[in-house]
Amino acid sequence: MRPDVVVVGASVIGLTTGVCLAEAGLKVRLQSPVPPSATTSAVASAMAGPAVAPAGERAGRHEWAGLAEFTALAGVAGTGVTLRRGRLVSREQGPPLPGMQACAPGDLPPGFAAGFWATLPLVDMPVYLGYLAGRLAAAGGEFEYAKTRSLAGLTAVTPLVANCAGLGARELVPDPAVTAARGQHVVTDNPGLEEFFIEAPLGPAWAAYWPYPGHVVLGGTWVSGDERTEPDDAAAGQILRRCIRVEPRLAQARVRGHQVGLRPWPGLTFPSVPQCCRQAGIRVPARPPVPIRTIRWAGPRWSSLRCPPGTCGRWRTPAR
Ligand SMILES: Cc1cc2nc3c(=O)[nH]c(=O)nc-3n(C[C@H](O)[C@H](O)[C@H](O)COP(=O)(O)OP(=O)(O)OC[C@H]3O[C@@H](n4cnc5c(N)ncnc54)[C@H](O)[C@@H]3O)c2cc1C
Repeated sequence: MRPDVVVVGASVIGLTTGVCLAEAGLKVRLQSPVPPSATTSAVASAMAGPAVAPAGERAGRHEWAGLAEFTALAGVAGTGVTLRRGRLVSREQGPPLPGMQACAPGDLPPGFAAGFWATLPLVDMPVYLGYLAGRLAAAGGEFEYAKTRSLAGLTAVTPLVANCAGLGARELVPDPAVTAARGQHVVTDNPGLEEFFIEAPLGPAWAAYWPYPGHVVLGGTWVSGDERTEPDDAAAGQILRRCIRVEPRLAQARVRGHQVGLRPWPGLTFPSVPQCCRQAGIRVPARPPVPIRTIRWAGPRWSSLRCPPGTCGRWRTPAR
Protein backbone atom coordinates (compact mmCIF):
# COMPACT_ATOMS: atom_id res chain seq x y z
CA MET A 1 0.00 0.00 0.00
CA ARG A 2 1.36 3.43 -0.93
CA PRO A 3 0.48 5.62 2.03
CA ASP A 4 -1.07 9.07 1.71
CA VAL A 5 1.02 10.11 4.69
CA VAL A 6 3.93 8.75 6.66
CA VAL A 7 3.96 9.64 10.35
CA VAL A 8 7.47 9.56 11.78
CA GLY A 9 7.16 8.41 15.39
CA ALA A 10 4.70 6.07 17.03
CA SER A 11 4.16 7.42 20.48
CA VAL A 12 1.43 9.65 21.86
CA ILE A 13 1.82 12.37 19.22
CA GLY A 14 2.48 10.01 16.31
CA LEU A 15 -0.35 7.66 17.25
CA THR A 16 -2.75 10.55 17.84
CA THR A 17 -1.86 12.10 14.51
CA GLY A 18 -2.15 8.71 12.81
CA VAL A 19 -5.57 8.04 14.36
CA CYS A 20 -6.89 11.47 13.31
CA LEU A 21 -5.66 11.04 9.73
CA ALA A 22 -6.70 7.39 9.35
CA GLU A 23 -10.16 8.06 10.77
CA ALA A 24 -10.44 10.96 8.28
CA GLY A 25 -9.92 8.43 5.47
CA LEU A 26 -6.20 8.67 4.66
CA LYS A 27 -3.90 5.68 4.21
CA VAL A 28 -1.49 6.12 7.09
CA ARG A 29 1.84 4.49 7.87
CA LEU A 30 3.65 5.04 11.15
CA GLN A 31 7.40 4.49 11.39
CA SER A 32 9.34 3.95 14.59
CA PRO A 33 12.29 1.76 15.55
CA VAL A 34 10.71 0.94 18.92
CA PRO A 35 7.17 0.13 20.12
CA PRO A 36 5.09 2.81 21.92
CA SER A 37 5.78 1.12 25.25
CA ALA A 38 9.50 1.97 24.93
CA THR A 39 9.08 5.73 24.42
CA THR A 40 9.10 8.83 26.63
CA SER A 41 5.30 8.95 26.40
CA ALA A 42 5.01 5.62 28.20
CA VAL A 43 6.76 7.25 31.20
CA ALA A 44 4.57 10.38 31.46
CA SER A 45 2.60 10.77 34.68
CA ALA A 46 0.26 11.78 32.99
CA MET A 47 -2.12 14.54 33.97
CA ALA A 48 -4.25 16.47 31.50
CA GLY A 49 -4.94 20.08 32.36
CA PRO A 50 -5.99 22.18 34.03
CA ALA A 51 -6.62 24.61 31.22
CA VAL A 52 -5.33 27.97 32.37
CA ALA A 53 -4.73 29.89 29.13
CA PRO A 54 -7.57 32.18 28.00
CA ALA A 55 -10.07 30.20 25.93
CA GLY A 56 -9.80 32.62 22.98
CA GLU A 57 -6.07 32.05 22.49
CA ARG A 58 -4.71 29.14 20.47
CA ALA A 59 -2.99 27.58 23.48
CA GLY A 60 -6.23 27.99 25.42
CA ARG A 61 -8.29 26.36 22.68
CA HIS A 62 -5.92 23.38 22.67
CA GLU A 63 -5.99 23.11 26.45
CA TRP A 64 -9.78 23.24 26.66
CA ALA A 65 -10.19 20.81 23.74
CA GLY A 66 -7.72 18.39 25.30
CA LEU A 67 -9.37 18.59 28.67
CA ALA A 68 -12.82 18.00 27.20
CA GLU A 69 -11.61 15.07 25.12
CA PHE A 70 -9.79 13.34 27.97
CA THR A 71 -12.74 13.94 30.28
CA ALA A 72 -14.92 12.15 27.73
CA LEU A 73 -12.37 9.33 27.38
CA ALA A 74 -12.55 8.77 31.15
CA GLY A 75 -15.96 7.21 30.52
CA VAL A 76 -14.63 4.78 27.91
CA ALA A 77 -13.36 1.39 29.07
CA GLY A 78 -9.84 0.42 28.02
CA THR A 79 -8.48 3.95 27.55
CA GLY A 80 -6.55 4.10 30.83
CA VAL A 81 -8.09 7.52 31.53
CA THR A 82 -9.67 8.20 34.93
CA LEU A 83 -10.99 11.37 36.52
CA ARG A 84 -9.43 12.14 39.89
CA ARG A 85 -9.89 14.95 42.37
CA GLY A 86 -6.74 16.45 43.74
CA ARG A 87 -4.80 19.46 44.90
CA LEU A 88 -2.58 21.78 42.85
CA VAL A 89 -0.51 23.67 45.37
CA SER A 90 2.25 26.22 45.58
CA ARG A 91 4.71 27.37 48.23
CA GLU A 92 3.91 30.96 47.20
CA GLN A 93 0.68 32.91 47.04
CA GLY A 94 -0.68 33.30 43.50
CA PRO A 95 -3.66 34.70 41.66
CA PRO A 96 -6.94 32.75 41.83
CA LEU A 97 -7.53 30.31 38.98
CA PRO A 98 -10.98 30.81 37.42
CA GLY A 99 -13.36 27.92 37.97
CA MET A 100 -11.22 26.24 40.62
CA GLN A 101 -12.02 25.93 44.30
CA ALA A 102 -9.29 27.36 46.55
CA CYS A 103 -7.89 25.03 49.23
CA ALA A 104 -8.81 25.87 52.81
CA PRO A 105 -5.74 26.43 55.02
CA GLY A 106 -6.27 23.00 56.58
CA ASP A 107 -6.01 21.36 53.14
CA LEU A 108 -2.44 22.56 52.68
CA PRO A 109 0.52 20.45 53.84
CA PRO A 110 3.20 22.26 55.89
CA GLY A 111 5.26 24.65 53.77
CA PHE A 112 2.56 25.37 51.21
CA ALA A 113 0.87 28.77 50.97
CA ALA A 114 -1.93 28.32 48.43
CA GLY A 115 -3.66 25.73 46.34
CA PHE A 116 -6.71 24.63 44.39
CA TRP A 117 -8.89 21.59 44.19
CA ALA A 118 -9.56 20.28 40.71
CA THR A 119 -10.98 17.15 39.13
CA LEU A 120 -8.79 16.24 36.17
CA PRO A 121 -8.10 13.30 33.85
CA LEU A 122 -5.13 11.11 34.77
CA VAL A 123 -3.86 8.94 31.95
CA ASP A 124 -2.23 5.56 32.52
CA MET A 125 0.02 6.00 29.50
CA PRO A 126 0.95 2.39 28.66
CA VAL A 127 -2.78 1.57 28.59
CA TYR A 128 -3.64 4.72 26.64
CA LEU A 129 -0.93 4.07 24.03
CA GLY A 130 -2.33 0.57 23.55
CA TYR A 131 -5.80 2.06 23.11
CA LEU A 132 -4.51 4.48 20.43
CA ALA A 133 -2.66 1.67 18.65
CA GLY A 134 -5.88 -0.36 18.55
CA ARG A 135 -7.81 2.60 17.17
CA LEU A 136 -5.16 3.17 14.50
CA ALA A 137 -5.30 -0.48 13.43
CA ALA A 138 -9.12 -0.40 13.35
CA ALA A 139 -8.97 2.60 11.01
CA GLY A 140 -6.61 0.76 8.66
CA GLY A 141 -3.36 2.45 9.71
CA GLU A 142 -0.18 0.40 9.52
CA PHE A 143 2.94 0.32 11.64
CA GLU A 144 6.48 -0.22 10.38
CA TYR A 145 9.43 -0.90 12.69
CA ALA A 146 11.95 1.40 11.03
CA LYS A 147 14.10 4.37 11.84
CA THR A 148 13.58 7.24 9.41
CA ARG A 149 17.04 8.28 8.26
CA SER A 150 15.97 11.45 6.44
CA LEU A 151 12.76 13.33 5.68
CA ALA A 152 13.99 13.80 2.13
CA GLY A 153 14.11 10.03 1.65
CA LEU A 154 10.41 9.76 2.46
CA THR A 155 9.38 11.82 -0.56
CA ALA A 156 9.87 8.70 -2.69
CA VAL A 157 7.24 6.96 -0.55
CA THR A 158 4.67 9.67 0.14
CA PRO A 159 3.89 13.30 -0.63
CA LEU A 160 3.07 14.02 3.01
CA VAL A 161 5.05 13.57 6.19
CA ALA A 162 4.08 14.26 9.79
CA ASN A 163 7.15 14.62 11.95
CA CYS A 164 6.25 13.31 15.42
CA ALA A 165 9.73 12.14 16.36
CA GLY A 166 9.92 13.84 19.75
CA LEU A 167 13.54 14.26 20.76
CA GLY A 168 14.49 12.38 17.57
CA ALA A 169 13.57 15.53 15.60
CA ARG A 170 16.87 17.02 16.74
CA GLU A 171 18.82 14.75 14.41
CA LEU A 172 16.10 14.11 11.85
CA VAL A 173 15.04 17.63 10.84
CA PRO A 174 17.72 18.53 12.05
CA ASP A 175 16.66 20.99 14.74
CA PRO A 176 19.35 21.72 17.33
CA ALA A 177 16.79 23.79 19.32
CA VAL A 178 15.21 20.54 20.55
CA THR A 179 16.76 19.52 23.84
CA ALA A 180 16.00 16.97 26.52
CA ALA A 181 14.55 17.65 29.97
CA ARG A 182 15.10 14.53 32.04
CA GLY A 183 12.29 13.42 34.32
CA GLN A 184 12.29 10.67 36.92
CA HIS A 185 9.46 8.85 38.69
CA VAL A 186 9.17 6.32 41.47
CA VAL A 187 6.30 3.84 41.12
CA THR A 188 4.82 2.29 44.27
CA ASP A 189 1.87 0.13 45.24
CA ASN A 190 -1.22 2.16 46.00
CA PRO A 191 -1.74 2.28 49.80
CA GLY A 192 -5.34 3.47 49.31
CA LEU A 193 -4.84 6.91 47.75
CA GLU A 194 -7.70 8.37 45.72
CA GLU A 195 -6.56 11.97 45.25
CA PHE A 196 -3.62 13.36 43.29
CA PHE A 197 -1.27 16.06 44.51
CA ILE A 198 1.02 18.30 42.48
CA GLU A 199 3.24 21.18 43.45
CA ALA A 200 3.90 24.12 41.12
CA PRO A 201 5.89 25.64 39.64
CA LEU A 202 7.56 22.58 38.21
CA GLY A 203 11.30 22.36 38.39
CA PRO A 204 13.92 21.44 39.08
CA ALA A 205 12.19 19.21 41.68
CA TRP A 206 8.73 19.13 43.18
CA ALA A 207 6.36 16.90 45.14
CA ALA A 208 3.68 15.13 43.13
CA TYR A 209 1.82 11.86 43.17
CA TRP A 210 -0.83 10.46 40.88
CA PRO A 211 -2.85 7.45 42.08
CA TYR A 212 -4.04 4.76 39.68
CA PRO A 213 -6.11 1.74 40.66
CA GLY A 214 -3.11 -0.52 41.35
CA HIS A 215 -0.16 1.83 41.67
CA VAL A 216 0.97 5.38 42.39
CA VAL A 217 3.37 7.43 40.25
CA LEU A 218 5.56 9.76 42.33
CA GLY A 219 7.50 12.72 40.95
CA GLY A 220 8.88 14.91 39.89
CA THR A 221 12.13 16.17 38.48
CA TRP A 222 13.10 18.35 35.56
CA VAL A 223 16.78 18.42 34.60
CA SER A 224 17.46 20.28 31.37
CA GLY A 225 20.16 18.87 29.13
CA ASP A 226 20.61 15.65 31.12
CA GLU A 227 20.16 12.70 28.74
CA ARG A 228 21.02 9.85 31.09
CA THR A 229 18.24 7.30 31.01
CA GLU A 230 19.19 5.21 34.04
CA PRO A 231 17.42 6.04 37.34
CA ASP A 232 19.38 8.09 39.86
CA ASP A 233 19.23 6.65 43.40
CA ALA A 234 19.64 10.01 45.11
CA ALA A 235 16.87 11.58 43.03
CA ALA A 236 14.59 8.61 43.80
CA GLY A 237 15.21 9.01 47.54
CA GLN A 238 14.41 12.73 47.34
CA ILE A 239 11.20 12.06 45.41
CA LEU A 240 10.06 9.59 48.07
CA ARG A 241 10.93 11.91 50.96
CA ARG A 242 9.13 14.91 49.41
CA CYS A 243 6.00 12.88 48.73
CA ILE A 244 5.95 11.13 52.11
CA ARG A 245 6.12 14.55 53.80
CA VAL A 246 2.85 15.40 52.03
CA GLU A 247 1.23 11.94 52.24
CA PRO A 248 2.60 9.77 55.10
CA ARG A 249 0.75 6.66 53.86
CA LEU A 250 3.28 6.45 51.02
CA ALA A 251 5.95 5.47 53.56
CA GLN A 252 4.23 2.06 53.83
CA ALA A 253 3.97 1.52 50.07
CA ARG A 254 6.25 -1.02 48.38
CA VAL A 255 8.44 0.55 45.69
CA ARG A 256 7.69 -1.24 42.43
CA GLY A 257 10.21 0.47 40.21
CA HIS A 258 11.78 3.58 38.77
CA GLN A 259 11.19 5.36 35.48
CA VAL A 260 13.17 7.91 33.51
CA GLY A 261 12.05 9.80 30.43
CA LEU A 262 13.54 12.52 28.24
CA ARG A 263 10.99 15.25 27.56
CA PRO A 264 11.47 16.86 24.15
CA TRP A 265 11.99 20.51 25.05
CA PRO A 266 11.24 23.19 23.99
CA GLY A 267 10.28 21.19 20.95
CA LEU A 268 9.10 22.42 17.63
CA THR A 269 6.41 24.97 18.24
CA PHE A 270 3.92 24.54 15.45
CA PRO A 271 6.20 24.78 12.43
CA SER A 272 4.56 23.44 9.33
CA VAL A 273 5.96 20.36 7.67
CA PRO A 274 6.78 22.49 4.62
CA GLN A 275 8.94 24.56 6.94
CA CYS A 276 10.66 21.44 8.29
CA CYS A 277 11.07 20.05 4.80
CA ARG A 278 12.56 23.26 3.47
CA GLN A 279 15.04 23.20 6.31
CA ALA A 280 15.93 19.69 5.20
CA GLY A 281 16.26 20.82 1.57
CA ILE A 282 13.08 19.13 0.31
CA ARG A 283 10.96 20.89 -2.32
CA VAL A 284 7.33 21.18 -1.24
CA PRO A 285 4.35 22.88 -2.85
CA ALA A 286 3.51 26.33 -1.51
CA ARG A 287 0.03 25.13 -0.55
CA PRO A 288 0.13 21.46 0.41
CA PRO A 289 -3.25 19.69 0.16
CA VAL A 290 -3.19 18.73 3.84
CA PRO A 291 -1.79 21.00 6.52
CA ILE A 292 0.44 18.64 8.47
CA ARG A 293 2.01 20.15 11.54
CA THR A 294 4.46 19.13 14.15
CA ILE A 295 2.66 19.30 17.46
CA ARG A 296 4.24 20.20 20.74
CA TRP A 297 2.66 18.27 23.53
CA ALA A 298 3.87 19.12 26.99
CA GLY A 299 2.63 22.21 28.76
CA PRO A 300 5.09 24.64 30.30
CA ARG A 301 3.71 24.73 33.85
CA TRP A 302 0.74 22.61 34.66
CA SER A 303 1.33 19.72 32.29
CA SER A 304 -1.38 19.12 29.81
CA LEU A 305 -1.99 16.61 27.12
CA ARG A 306 -2.92 18.26 23.90
CA CYS A 307 -4.61 17.59 20.59
CA PRO A 308 -6.19 14.22 21.31
CA PRO A 309 -8.25 12.20 18.83
CA GLY A 310 -11.50 13.84 17.88
CA THR A 311 -10.28 17.39 18.35
CA CYS A 312 -8.43 17.57 15.06
CA GLY A 313 -11.35 18.74 12.94
CA ARG A 314 -8.93 20.54 10.65
CA TRP A 315 -7.67 17.30 9.12
CA ARG A 316 -9.30 16.75 5.76
CA THR A 317 -8.89 14.12 3.11
CA PRO A 318 -6.93 15.65 0.21
CA ALA A 319 -8.35 15.73 -3.29
CA ARG A 320 -7.08 12.61 -5.05
C1 LIG B 1 8.73 11.93 33.83
C2 LIG B 1 7.83 12.61 32.81
C3 LIG B 1 6.55 13.01 33.17
C4 LIG B 1 5.74 13.65 32.24
N1 LIG B 1 4.47 14.01 32.59
C5 LIG B 1 3.65 14.61 31.70
C6 LIG B 1 2.30 14.97 32.04
O1 LIG B 1 1.84 14.76 33.14
N2 LIG B 1 1.54 15.59 31.10
C7 LIG B 1 2.05 15.87 29.85
O2 LIG B 1 1.33 16.45 29.03
N3 LIG B 1 3.31 15.54 29.50
C8 LIG B 1 4.11 14.92 30.39
N4 LIG B 1 5.40 14.58 30.04
C9 LIG B 1 5.90 14.97 28.72
C10 LIG B 1 5.47 13.96 27.69
O3 LIG B 1 5.82 12.67 28.11
C11 LIG B 1 6.13 14.25 26.35
O4 LIG B 1 5.95 15.59 25.99
C12 LIG B 1 5.50 13.37 25.29
O5 LIG B 1 5.55 12.01 25.69
C13 LIG B 1 6.16 13.53 23.95
O6 LIG B 1 5.49 12.67 23.08
P1 LIG B 1 6.02 12.43 21.62
O7 LIG B 1 5.12 11.46 20.97
O8 LIG B 1 6.22 13.76 20.96
O9 LIG B 1 7.51 11.86 21.81
P2 LIG B 1 8.04 10.45 22.29
O10 LIG B 1 7.15 9.78 23.28
O11 LIG B 1 9.45 10.67 22.68
O12 LIG B 1 8.00 9.60 20.98
C14 LIG B 1 8.85 9.87 19.89
C15 LIG B 1 8.59 8.84 18.83
O13 LIG B 1 9.39 9.13 17.69
C16 LIG B 1 10.14 7.96 17.34
N5 LIG B 1 11.35 8.40 16.62
C17 LIG B 1 12.32 9.23 17.04
N6 LIG B 1 13.23 9.39 16.06
C18 LIG B 1 12.80 8.65 15.01
C19 LIG B 1 13.30 8.41 13.70
N7 LIG B 1 14.43 8.96 13.25
N8 LIG B 1 12.58 7.58 12.88
C20 LIG B 1 11.43 7.02 13.30
N9 LIG B 1 10.92 7.22 14.52
C21 LIG B 1 11.60 8.03 15.36
C22 LIG B 1 10.36 7.24 18.65
O14 LIG B 1 10.70 5.88 18.43
C23 LIG B 1 8.97 7.41 19.26
O15 LIG B 1 8.07 6.48 18.70
C24 LIG B 1 6.23 13.90 30.94
C25 LIG B 1 7.51 13.48 30.58
C26 LIG B 1 8.31 12.84 31.50
C27 LIG B 1 9.67 12.37 31.08
